[in-house]
Amino acid sequence: MNKEEKPPILWLQAGIFLGTLLVAAIGVPWYGVSHGFHWSAWLGFALVLVANGISITAGYHRLWSHNAYKASGLLRLPLALFGAATLQNSILVWASGHRRHHRYIDDFDKDPYCANRGLWFSHIGWMLRDYESSREDFSNVRDLQRDPIVAWQHRYYVPLALAMNFIPPLLLGWITGDWIANLLLAGVLRLVISHHSTFFINSLAHYWGKQPYTDHNSARDNGVLALLTYGEGYHNYHHQFQSDYRNGVRWWQFDPTKWLIKAASWIGLTRDLNRTPDFKIREAIVAMQFKHAEQSLALSINPEKLRTIVEQEYQQFLQSLQQWKALREQWYVRKREKLAEARDDWYRKWDQTNLRAGFRELEHALKLQQKRLEQINLQLRLRMA
Ligand SMILES: [Zn+2]
Ligand SMILES: [Zn+2]
Repeated sequence: MNKEEKPPILWLQAGIFLGTLLVAAIGVPWYGVSHGFHWSAWLGFALVLVANGISITAGYHRLWSHNAYKASGLLRLPLALFGAATLQNSILVWASGHRRHHRYIDDFDKDPYCANRGLWFSHIGWMLRDYESSREDFSNVRDLQRDPIVAWQHRYYVPLALAMNFIPPLLLGWITGDWIANLLLAGVLRLVISHHSTFFINSLAHYWGKQPYTDHNSARDNGVLALLTYGEGYHNYHHQFQSDYRNGVRWWQFDPTKWLIKAASWIGLTRDLNRTPDFKIREAIVAMQFKHAEQSLALSINPEKLRTIVEQEYQQFLQSLQQWKALREQWYVRKREKLAEARDDWYRKWDQTNLRAGFRELEHALKLQQKRLEQINLQLRLRMA
């Protein structure tokens, strides 16, 4: 595509991005040097920044785009309000674009922030011009249009976005007496940081990091990005298991959004949290390990002995998958029976305990296989060197 063919620039959006960036890069340090910022202005900045960030990750993204859990109106309302403050458009527009991103990932014409179109395009470029791939189409968010809070936020998006950008810093200014400091920090600097930390997910998290769960798309797992994005850096996992309320699936992975959603369930603000079964997660990892082993076997010297081992492991893997599927079917049958009968009895409890033990056994076997394959892949890499 040559320069003449590029769609027209969206001046309002470009102006907001550039204007706020200039104020954050020049105005904030200038005020800091000439007047100084009181710690209370930094505290206000941090609070509004976190409220904005969480509204996007827990609200716009995991709740509305992916239905990864359900939330009460008491939580949905602040998520919608602080989400509007981030100036990333209404929930409806955002979720519609994001669902297209997942469905058509890496597709040049259909993925609105397609990483194949370059780092700049996927970070911010896609919002600066009137691209065909960003055209509004709400046919994929009919479920959200039925949520009264989503519909209300979409209808009054502009006044809500303005109010939520000015009221918190003005309120902080009124409390502390330093209007300019709060407008600069909780107003402008907060907006710029909040923007780019979200945009990193579309750009860097599709370029930089590992692909432990799938290599069918460009999404990457990146622990450093997770630190900057309230846990959303585990993007390879997320693209493979998008309806999971967790992105950092291991307990030690930094995912404050996951912890918040979980903690909110203890006081009834969230419920029906979707979790991918542990076996399915390991299945994806092990399948990738076999893929790597295959690639290395093709390139290594005298691979016969290792090839036999890998083949044996693969047969065992297929067997585990079949056993898991059979167990899952049994589980569904029992679940239906339970619904049909009103009362619980000791036999069903005993039966369910047995089923659970079966699942755990298979999970454990797959965990051991994952460890063995790690060793095999290590040996294969050494043979290639
Ligand atoms: Zn997503
Ligand atoms: Zn993505």
